[in-house]
Amino acid sequence: NQKIKLAILGAPGVGKTAIVKQFVYNEFTEDYESTEKKQIFLPSVIINDHLYELKIIDCPYIPYFPVNSLYEWTDFRGFGLRNASAYILVYDITSEDSFQYIKSLREQILESRNMHDVPMFIVGNKHDLAEERGISRREVANLVKKQWKCGYIECSAKFNWHVVLLFKELMKTIDYI
Ligand code: GDP
Repeated sequence: NQKIKLAILGAPGVGKTAIVKQFVYNEFTEDYESTEKKQIFLPSVIINDHLYELKIIDCPYIPYFPVNSLYEWTDFRGFGLRNASAYILVYDITSEDSFQYIKSLREQILESRNMHDVPMFIVGNKHDLAEERGISRREVANLVKKQWKCGYIECSAKFNWHVVLLFKELMKTIDYI
């Protein structure tokens, strides 16, 4: 069995917890319990015919990242984010601000890991609200796929649409060797 640590990050309210709960428990609630939560989920799952023991860290909001704060913050809180196998950066497709936030997160992660090939996967959640898009899909896809060279998917945690696919695609981008 492969043990894989995944960190899920993004602005408050984008649906990080909803995505993980949908993936792990197949459930969705309209409730929003924000901020200081730190949750770790430990599902054993079969993805792409492999059995994985996942450790999914659902990270609380970090309002502002001064240089090296990811390192300090993670050390301080004991999250151990620095050695994650991959980072899932979630934004809400109706909120441009939430996309700007993951831009800064990405820079922080690259800086704190001091490398360029950290597996990151960009997720635009709340696809069910596509009529209220705050940032165009094309703009995001161009940046993410062509410049960042990251995987990208839109999903809806609410309707369990593309949630499993997200994890399938993500696992393909992780280098197992
Ligand atoms: P987090 O702070 O990023 O963990 O966000 P939550 O998972 O707590 O979700 C924030 C709010 O958005 C909650 O009220 C959820 O019910 C709602 N939400 C999450 N995912 C979706 C989605 O795919 N579509 C819609 N319409 N609402 C969602």
